[in-house]
Amino acid sequence: MEHLVLATVPIINSCNLSCPWCAAHLSSQPIFNTRHILAALAKIEHPIHGIALTGGEPFTSLRILDVKRELEHAGHRVFAITNGTLHDQIWEFVTGDTLDVAMSVHNPALFPEWVVAKKYELLAECRKRGLKIMAGLFSVDSAEDIQLACEYILNNRDVFQTSTISTVYRSDQPGMKMEDLLEMVSLSLGVEAEIVFQSPGKTVLMVDGYAIVLRRAPTIEEYTPEYDIPGCLFMAWDGNFYPVAYAQYYNEEVLA
Ligand code: SF4
Repeated sequence: MEHLVLATVPIINSCNLSCPWCAAHLSSQPIFNTRHILAALAKIEHPIHGIALTGGEPFTSLRILDVKRELEHAGHRVFAITNGTLHDQIWEFVTGDTLDVAMSVHNPALFPEWVVAKKYELLAECRKRGLKIMAGLFSVDSAEDIQLACEYILNNRDVFQTSTISTVYRSDQPGMKMEDLLEMVSLSLGVEAEIVFQSPGKTVLMVDGYAIVLRRAPTIEEYTPEYDIPGCLFMAWDGNFYPVAYAQYYNEEVLA
């Protein structure tokens, strides 16, 4: 099976929401210009399938369309990872018949009602326009999070091309094991799921032809540079791309 390697770039460190767990508000991560991003991308040995613009909330950035244009001009496919609430900006970003955004959903019970409603409104508008969101993203840290993520996926998989359930990175305690995540997801789905790829950090399930990717953040002791490959790279505070867990460790050290 083909694994997508995505390079994630923060383009702003503010957001229109203020989730209490969000690191974007606690930090002032450096934001790099397009020239620097392209230079950092050139150092990556793996073929890059796409560049994900993130933040904070990337749609609060006034330069998002310029960044997109400049990266596309350099031959890259560009999409955004959004909280799904700034619809005018999202529709401005859409250029073709695909919706080049991934939407973070997480556990809807942790968000104010208006935020949950906005995300549902976006899904409804996508259905109306016949578009699919590239991915639904669910960070999970408990059995309840997993249960609600699975319900959301089963109810809305018609409008997400794929969904990803990722364990929350916790530096203070060992994270959930992949086998436990897999067991809880399988139980919560309550439907037959075929495992089509399995590694300590990533498992891919197929439910009636629909792919659900499970990701597990390693602890620092378990971490190896290959842990997240194939997968997601993240631009760390030194301006280089690393597998996402390593970038988190790196940034944490810089913050300490
Ligand atoms: S929506 Fe995302 S970026 Fe915005 S505050 Fe919440 S976690 Fe942070």
